[in-house]
Amino acid sequence: MSLTTEPHDKPIAPANTGKISGISPQALYNKCMALASNLWWSWHPEVINLFRSLDPIRWRQLGHNPIALLREFTPERLEVRAAELVLYTRIDQAYRRMNEYMGTRTRWATRNVGVLGSRPVAYFSLEFGVHESVPIYSGGLGVLSGDHIKSASGLGVPLVAIGLFYNQGYFKQHLNINGWQQEEYLDTMVEYLPLEPAVDANGNKITVSIETRTGTIYAKVRKMNVGRVPLYLLDTDIEENQPDDRELTSRLYGGNNRTRIRQEIVSGIGGVRVLKALGIAPGVYHLNEGHNAFATLEAIRQKMHDDGQSFQAAASDVAQMTVFTTHTPVPAGHDRFDNGLIEEHLGPLREELGIDHSHLMSLGRVDTANVDEPFCMTVLGCKMSRFANAVASLHGVVSRKMWHCLWPNLPEEKVPIGHITNGVHVPSWMAWQINTLFERHLPPSWSQESYDPREWEPILGIDAGELWETHNALKNLLIAFIRRRVSRQCRRRGEADDVIDRARTLLDPQILTIGFGRRFATYKRATLVLNQFDRMAKLCNDPDRPVQFVFAGKAHPADNPGKEFIQTIANLRNDPRFANRFVFIEDYDINVCRHMIQGVDVWLNNPRRPLEASGTSGMKAVLNGALNLSILDGWWAEAYDGSNGFAIGDGTSHVDDKITDQRDAESLFDVLEKEVIPLYYDTDEHGLPGNWIRRMKNSISTLAWRFSAHRMVADYTTTAYLPAAGGMSCVMDKK
Ligand SMILES: *Cc1c(COP(=O)(O)O)cnc(C)c1O
Repeated sequence: MSLTTEPHDKPIAPANTGKISGISPQALYNKCMALASNLWWSWHPEVINLFRSLDPIRWRQLGHNPIALLREFTPERLEVRAAELVLYTRIDQAYRRMNEYMGTRTRWATRNVGVLGSRPVAYFSLEFGVHESVPIYSGGLGVLSGDHIKSASGLGVPLVAIGLFYNQGYFKQHLNINGWQQEEYLDTMVEYLPLEPAVDANGNKITVSIETRTGTIYAKVRKMNVGRVPLYLLDTDIEENQPDDRELTSRLYGGNNRTRIRQEIVSGIGGVRVLKALGIAPGVYHLNEGHNAFATLEAIRQKMHDDGQSFQAAASDVAQMTVFTTHTPVPAGHDRFDNGLIEEHLGPLREELGIDHSHLMSLGRVDTANVDEPFCMTVLGCKMSRFANAVASLHGVVSRKMWHCLWPNLPEEKVPIGHITNGVHVPSWMAWQINTLFERHLPPSWSQESYDPREWEPILGIDAGELWETHNALKNLLIAFIRRRVSRQCRRRGEADDVIDRARTLLDPQILTIGFGRRFATYKRATLVLNQFDRMAKLCNDPDRPVQFVFAGKAHPADNPGKEFIQTIANLRNDPRFANRFVFIEDYDINVCRHMIQGVDVWLNNPRRPLEASGTSGMKAVLNGALNLSILDGWWAEAYDGSNGFAIGDGTSHVDDKITDQRDAESLFDVLEKEVIPLYYDTDEHGLPGNWIRRMKNSISTLAWRFSAHRMVADYTTTAYLPAAGGMSCVMDKK
């Protein structure tokens, strides 16, 4: 959809006439559709509120999807509704703001992007979590990709993103009456997503194909606009394919290892072919996780073909321009493929590269001579990139240790894997109520320059009562959300009427509220708070200073121990000591996460160290004034300074997991009893917990800028993208 000003764009009619003159209903409708068609709207509260106000109930029922909502209106009905609500000016302003945003080069870009202007970054990821209405993500990795491209858009970093389009996405989670996780896959209503076919310079729809030993896989390409960043999504659901392959991209992380390698050749190899078809010559390939490392092989093939280079020369050039980010601190978490799968899927490409099978396999092996070693995508990523990075400082240490085997001649600390700590996209995660409060205190440049600590300093001067009131308003919204959700969950499960009624009054806004929302992988130890059951019962039921917990998260469909954790937590509702103190919200997604991190007092994270690569939900909590209570792992190991949250443990672990768990639980209870609870309930004569609020401000002012995605993308640009695109060599800064 064109974003240029329409010919119908006439001066604003006075709103109180009840009728809008000067613009046709169709033109008004088109403006709203234009707004809905670029995900720019999803981080602009005034536009979200505009859509919501058209029909708040349908907005919620339609999963916050503005296209689906607008499709329920005729242009005439929309005009009537806009007149009733006096929306015309707001629609017009939003539309202008978006066009202005799309058409302006940022100050940051003018100073910082250099050669990327003509040779953009191509950012590859297997999932993108941009908004809950676009279900092509499962969790942290996807949300990180979404935040990365939003901040690239905000800063003006020239970047195109490549991924897969899954028409069933990831599963929806429900619990049955026994608290056991059920997985359901739903077809996405594709026509309600802001997608358009990607076209080449001649306006022809792009399709790409990837030849394998057992047939050719075809993919069409959909385009989604995320602010200034185009996101290209490959989709194998086209007629040219065998029936099985039409479903290849239907589910995120679905199927077996063969499905996985087929998805990965589509996104990696297919993705590089899409860029070519679009006429884009990237200056940088950024591989977000190893999944897309096959992209480098296709990039080499193109160089050999176009420039007549040898394999070695082309490989060296491609590695020079490749940035590889690894996210997984456990060896089992890395994709590995055997000889047969590699030959079946890479054989034809390998022949074009002029290398034999063992040469190809050696690119994915630690021990290149070991014919039994499978092909590891992370190894390929490390070998085919000059710039590899982990996602937090401690994760850098872990990654250098884990991949030291690839550089046996270097001392471990010289292993060329640096780190760039993750960050979150501030406007996507900060509640608009907090945003409004901050706007009154922070400089106008604040939202553009959220990576700059000076911009956030005035936080310390915000009136304590005002901050506390805003936080409590958000806490009330969370509790209302939970009551709505949980009573719906109970109805769906067929629970008795009194159970449903009780759900409508769950939780108490006066009580210290602790949130835990994350994947239910066992190393994240969701049940650590129950490690000392009676002690927890006592804390929950303290007459003066009780605590309550809100849990959410999905377990991988094959992870029964993870599902048992969910069951344990969910079934606490049958224990009178916990029934009104522990709630489990089903189907954790961006929407549930947003409500939780905006409304809780404390965000709890207690993984087994050092298995959390970074974690990002705690950063989202920071933006809204929640305090982190976390193991010193991932980002928290470098964020905690003694006054901006709470630490569990002392940053050590025992070789025996059981002992570690016990020690960490002991520390968790201690911190709760001695620090968190007393601080929260220590209120002055106005009911304000002054020291708590001070800690909230410390948290925001010391952490929000550092763990913002703007800071992260700025770091990638200056320390990785520019050197990669410029052909300079660069030793990544290991802070
Ligand atoms: C932010 C987010 C995550 C990642 O949070 P972690 O702290 O890494 O667990 C996962 N899922 C959703 C839906 C999110 O919004």
